Amino acid sequence: MSNFASLYEEVLITEGLKEYLPYAERFEELTARLLAFNARTNITAITDEKEIIKKHYADCLLVAKHFPENAALLDVGCGGGFPSLPLAIVRPDLQITSLDSTAKKLVFVGQTASEMGLNLKTLAGRAEELGRKEEYRERFDAVSARAVAALPVLCEWCFPFLKKGGLFLAMKGSGGLEELSAAKNAVKVLGGTLKEAKKDSIDGVVRYNLLFEKCAPTPSLYPRSNGAIQKKPL
Ligand code: SAM
Repeated sequence: MSNFASLYEEVLITEGLKEYLPYAERFEELTARLLAFNARTNITAITDEKEIIKKHYADCLLVAKHFPENAALLDVGCGGGFPSLPLAIVRPDLQITSLDSTAKKLVFVGQTASEMGLNLKTLAGRAEELGRKEEYRERFDAVSARAVAALPVLCEWCFPFLKKGGLFLAMKGSGGLEELSAAKNAVKVLGGTLKEAKKDSIDGVVRYNLLFEKCAPTPSLYPRSNGAIQKKPL
């Protein structure tokens, strides 16, 4: 067994994720690609293999079961591909679109997906601009976002992309419940409702995975311009 495979096994067993052990080789390949790309272009500050497995992979694997089968999933602010790349590995049924405003990160995500044969395409641009375009508005069954923006802002970026009945997953840290109460008005105005605030932990650090359902169309006023959103979040 390679050093990576034994670290992967140790972390996944500790975190109660052993059903994903069969994907060790795929994650080893992803890690090699991530570290090679990162040596030339900075896409992640985490470069220790065990930390990558814990902080990037295990954290994303925790949410893998939340998405309906064959869902069209948009990952808003995917950065170096989290959660989209781990999800594409363990959920090949999902049709994933990875969106980010930083082109260099998307180069890594797009190249990796195509060379590893993953069901994932990339989309470059700002969420609040693309969410106004007919091509993307109310077109997705699910939207995910990890470590992207404060929840009231994130809701305005993400809800417009969802079809009615769609699922929005906001992956938040230990302040998730405070963010949730700050975003109550935003969720309501944008047509959402909270389904579950799931408390998880990775390496003893608390995470809140907040799941919302879109139960009404988002009013056409939203998303507003970035300036207006930041100046006066919902
Ligand atoms: N989700 C990844 C993760 O968990 O590692 C990346 C998180 S990184 C802290 C936030 C990412 O959101 C950055 O890659 C940034 O370019 C992107 N981002 C910020 N504002 C955005 C916007 N308005 N539209 C699209 N992407 C945005």
